[in-house]
Amino acid sequence: MLNVCIIGTGYVGLVTGTCFAEIGHDVVCVDTDPDKIARLKKGDIPIYEPGLSDLVLKNVAEGRLSFATDISEVARSTHDFYFLAVGTPSRDEDGAADLTYVYRATEDAAIAIKEADSEGTQYPVFVTKSTVPVGTSKDIAKLVGKHLPPDRFAVASNPEFLREGNAVKDFMEPDRIVVGSKSERARTLLEVLYRPLTRSGRPLVVTSTVETAELIKYAANAFLATKVTFINELSRLCEKVGANVQELSLGIGLDPRIGNQFLNAGPGYGGSCFPKDTKALVKTANDSDSPIEIVEAVVRANDRHKNAMVEKIRTTLGGTLASKKIAVLGLAFKANTDDMRDAPALTIIPALKAYGAEITAFDPIAEEQAKKFLPEIRYAATVEETLVDADAVIILTEWREFQALNWQRLSEKMAAPVIIDLRNIYSDAQAKSMGMVYVSLGRPSD
Ligand code: NAD
Repeated sequence: MLNVCIIGTGYVGLVTGTCFAEIGHDVVCVDTDPDKIARLKKGDIPIYEPGLSDLVLKNVAEGRLSFATDISEVARSTHDFYFLAVGTPSRDEDGAADLTYVYRATEDAAIAIKEADSEGTQYPVFVTKSTVPVGTSKDIAKLVGKHLPPDRFAVASNPEFLREGNAVKDFMEPDRIVVGSKSERARTLLEVLYRPLTRSGRPLVVTSTVETAELIKYAANAFLATKVTFINELSRLCEKVGANVQELSLGIGLDPRIGNQFLNAGPGYGGSCFPKDTKALVKTANDSDSPIEIVEAVVRANDRHKNAMVEKIRTTLGGTLASKKIAVLGLAFKANTDDMRDAPALTIIPALKAYGAEITAFDPIAEEQAKKFLPEIRYAATVEETLVDADAVIILTEWREFQALNWQRLSEKMAAPVIIDLRNIYSDAQAKSMGMVYVSLGRPSD
């Protein structure tokens, strides 16, 4: 059993801390947000993540997981690890990762350890779990080194690959665990930390420099964002030439060199990672005088694709959206999460409104988060209520509850029976058999 302090108790910090506790470690999760910690202490989980709530409650009850706001108090106990899991959002001015939270959390922890450990007996490893640009861990080492002697701490990178909506399973059954450090001690301790997972066959990729581990995370996300953007652009070409993007995905995805995942056309990538990580990689590459033009193109193409979705909706509704009532099903950037950060809905809905459309939306889970970003639309409590008098319904998120709706019955509520399915969850034949006018992405009408 190792002692772990997680700094930042958001999507990644809470899942990481809870799962480390579940595999037997002693974990305290710290966050500067007092409301979040108060809720967690009451057993109220502030994010939606399937399976997480039960696991938090179980590990708290079994005494392996606790929550705190004050790092100076936490540092009074010895911890083998301080995991940095704070946010690294995009800086507006240049797209670089904003490292303010990372550096503040690092320095607060280093000062707290110094004050608590006057004998100098602790030897913590500072681990970046946050997605940070190449070189950040070196800066973290310098920052910690201002407060702790160089032979009393180590720095490592352990990027996280979990997907929201599947985070607990992804953490417990990862494709791979990446750890990087030039400190052998840090690498060995991390191997021990993850042993319960690697023992059951989960591969561990150990890199001898933090830089490699840091870059692996950006390379992975940029590659996946490229794949999504590739199929999205092809979906628009399919519409022009009478091809079917779903069949095309199957036709290329069965090639194991390509693989069939991330080949579903949609309204554009979004969420808390791909948008900011692609921009941050572009910035790092340019700063290093080694531009990655393919990722620059992906960032531009994704923006263009979201705008193309708006135009598709406008064209479907006869070229004008003024006073058109549009129902939107789904707001989160994907199903099974309430995360609204950079969701395509945040580009598409304001653009529809700017054209004069009236929007009523429904999301089974993300409504509370969505209201922070989209305060000026109407929110409905059910699918049925969303559709009342609508001139069209747009499916923006592939929530399971939207996948087998009885449109024959529901369309009676609508002003016109039009579905614009930006997730391709229905087939043309299926929708038409229920009396709907059906428009999807990259698939010709039968
Ligand atoms: P988040 O915004 O959900 O959580 C960050 C938390 O850190 C917040 O609760 C905030 O209050 C807290 N915080 C900020 N400063 C702090 C400080 N000084 N001390 C203690 N707590 C502090 O962010 P997230 O989605 O969990 O992402 C965290 C990092 O993990 C990011 O770098 C992100 O890119 C990366 N990541 C995220 C995902 C994902 O799916 N969300 C997946 C992999 C990696």
